[in-house]
Amino acid sequence: MVKKLFIETLGCAMNVRDSEHMIAELNREEPYLLTKDAKEADLILINTCSVREKPVNKLFSEIGQFVKHKKKSAKIGVCGCTASHLGEEIFKRAPEVNFVLGARNVSKIREAISKEKFLDVNINYDESAYAFGEFRQNPHKAYINISIGCDKKCAFCIVPHTRGEEISVPHELILSEAERAAKSGAKEIFLLGQNVNNYGRRLSNGKKGEFNFSQLLTQISKINEVKRIRFTSPHPLHMDDEFLEVFASNPKICKSMHMPLQSGSTAILKTMRRGYTKEWFLERAQKLRRMSPDVAISTDIIVAFPGESEKDFADTMEIMEEVRFEQIFSFKYSARPLTTAAQMTNMVDDKTASARLKILQDKHAAILDEMTPNYKDKIFEVYFEELRENGMIAGRTSQNFTVCAEESEKLLGEIKNVKITRPQRLILYGQVV
Ligand code: SF4
Repeated sequence: MVKKLFIETLGCAMNVRDSEHMIAELNREEPYLLTKDAKEADLILINTCSVREKPVNKLFSEIGQFVKHKKKSAKIGVCGCTASHLGEEIFKRAPEVNFVLGARNVSKIREAISKEKFLDVNINYDESAYAFGEFRQNPHKAYINISIGCDKKCAFCIVPHTRGEEISVPHELILSEAERAAKSGAKEIFLLGQNVNNYGRRLSNGKKGEFNFSQLLTQISKINEVKRIRFTSPHPLHMDDEFLEVFASNPKICKSMHMPLQSGSTAILKTMRRGYTKEWFLERAQKLRRMSPDVAISTDIIVAFPGESEKDFADTMEIMEEVRFEQIFSFKYSARPLTTAAQMTNMVDDKTASARLKILQDKHAAILDEMTPNYKDKIFEVYFEELRENGMIAGRTSQNFTVCAEESEKLLGEIKNVKITRPQRLILYGQVV
């Protein structure tokens, strides 16, 4: 009987890739059939996210549901960032869980399922040079980790406490993985890391890598079958001129740049320990727009970080007006365990926090309403990656805009010119021309 695997992946693209790695490792020993129905699964994996409190609370109620409905013999495993920071506590709060595997311990999944109970949340364990087996949820989408962990110490962020110190993956592994993926049909390579543009600073052996990020991008673009390169997340601090130059001049690099701002106030950026100022961020964003006029810039913004005054918030709104981001991910500050910000006492009250978040999101909606009509009748190159439930095929432009079209699914995995007929804030509808 082929065993069935139910896997739920929460959080970021790195978690998506970690889930693919776990499936590849499991398939090394015996193939698992993926199922969307946890009731028929022999193995239930929850790959968790800890960036905000909400997903953590949701985790235990979900485990409760799985325990109630699962097959008697089925095993439950909790993986990812919440596993890393809660560890043993997960067994206490949910004794039916069989194993807890941290975000740095993915390669140990086979060992984990071979034991009745298993716990490994060592955030210093180094898998950066581990050659995982091959598995991709979507054959047209090739996520590739180029580093693990993060050396920054942003005051609000739990990631360094769950994913450990930053280590770059050897470039040989990355290039061979990119070539394999492209030769197996993925025209777009999506590079992943907490700070991708800090790549090459330190390998497992403590030494500096042969290539920095700009050079790695250039090397990957030399692979014929690779048509597009995308990456996340770069850090504004490492957006030097070499990086902007390679980004703007290499036609294979998709013209979408994620620039996590977090706050527009230099004073708040200092308490956040982000390492850059409002002026640096603005200068880099404006230079990027000059060098790459069709670039789309997205960002992350936290409102109501402890100590944020009306003036600080006004600085954030000023950056919103100056940069006019094509996409924003915005949140009210959420205190995370183990972080320095969690000790801060000068909290902003929740009513003010909600009001600021609304002002920010309304501002962005207004900016989108000014931008979106301009895409009407525009022709974009779109890489079709998925079939939607409504029968439409969906893909992304170089700018990372989502485009949907009523076309045959035979176009999946193809890059086609699409004329936009009905632009909307989050999706551009069009037809292949
Ligand atoms: S750079 Fe900062 S926000 Fe990003 S993962 Fe590292 S600590 Fe977190």
